[in-house]
Amino acid sequence: MSLTKKIMIALILGVIVGISLSFSPVSFFNIIDTYILSPVGQIFLNLIMMLVVPIVFVSIVLGAAGLGEPAKVGKIGIQTIFFFLVSTSIALSIGIGLAYMIQPGEEGIFNTSNMEYEEQSAPPIMDTLVNIIPSNPIKSMASGDMLQIIAFAIFIGLGLGVLGEKTKGIHRLFEQANELLMWLIKIVMKTAPYGAFALIASAIGGAGINAIGSMAMYMGTVILSLIIHGTVTYGLAIWLLGKSNPLTFYKDFSPAMSVAFSTSSSSATLPLSLKIAQEKLGIKKEVSSFVQPLGATINMDGTGIMQAVATVFIAQVYTISLDFTDIIIIILTATLASIGTAGVPGVGLIMLAMVLNQIGLPVEGIALIVGVDRILDMLRTSLNIAGDASCALIISNNMKRKEERTKLQAS
Ligand code: ASP
Repeated sequence: MSLTKKIMIALILGVIVGISLSFSPVSFFNIIDTYILSPVGQIFLNLIMMLVVPIVFVSIVLGAAGLGEPAKVGKIGIQTIFFFLVSTSIALSIGIGLAYMIQPGEEGIFNTSNMEYEEQSAPPIMDTLVNIIPSNPIKSMASGDMLQIIAFAIFIGLGLGVLGEKTKGIHRLFEQANELLMWLIKIVMKTAPYGAFALIASAIGGAGINAIGSMAMYMGTVILSLIIHGTVTYGLAIWLLGKSNPLTFYKDFSPAMSVAFSTSSSSATLPLSLKIAQEKLGIKKEVSSFVQPLGATINMDGTGIMQAVATVFIAQVYTISLDFTDIIIIILTATLASIGTAGVPGVGLIMLAMVLNQIGLPVEGIALIVGVDRILDMLRTSLNIAGDASCALIISNNMKRKEERTKLQAS
């Protein structure tokens, strides 16, 4: 049986077992979770996390070196960031629009008295931007600071590209390290079905499906927005800009999306999403290895959608009306918040406080949605990484077409 099929079956079984466990006595769930599900899930997470820093570093070095000239890297960088910003703004508009149409905060009874939410301090966005250049790259790698690792790798890659023959040995070393890491991913992914099953069963069992109740409308609004953005926005972009078939894209990319679903982490899924993008979707290595790690760190359309819907939802529950300026502020701050969101579980919710603060909504409102956020995190992470891969596909296809045209003109 293919790995994709195995992961899909694990996913379905995980959901079924998770739902059954959520109806079982808490003590029973705790025993199963502590001794079976959590350890198996954690071992799988550790296995893939073990590869993230080396893969991001090596693949970006090779990507930047492969592009050759600094100007080319800059051009791809600008195209990538432009795509990310536009697609995030569209995602936020879909989320806000649907939240107004469906009005999830108007339905159901929400008890907002005595609600508490301990706000965790989100890093100030300016700090994140200034600190992109690492003062100590070894420290960045040790602490897994993705943006800093990306910046350092780009410098090294550019150097290798410019120096060419002189640094051929190191370049070859990076190529061989890449081969080795790709082999390791293949081995680690063999454990994916078991890991995915355990993580999903644990998350769904612990989230308590029976507690969804009046949050169903909120969840429905987020899920519908995610589906519309994935099918319409990305679908059209892949078809019109990338001249590719969106159905083939989703079919080939689904194993990465299901691992994102089970781990709720764009970063942890990176090794697999890079491998699939390069080997199955045919995305140029130098583009994929540059665009996807950057996207896994700063491009979170699914997270943006949750933040947009949650903000409107909280305003509705507290009967605070938002005017047009508020909507624009939501779009701006949620874009920044999704840039600042690390690709690990649950950070989107922490960053939501920033959006709420900006327009003066009560941060305690987050307490309403915490309970159901774990499940939404799984779904939005799958969309987050699909956005990165579609951007890479579009840029790579355009590059290929351009190269063909130049070849034709030359001949
Ligand atoms: N879990 C998300 C991701 O890794 C981030 C978030 O929304 O919390 O992409």
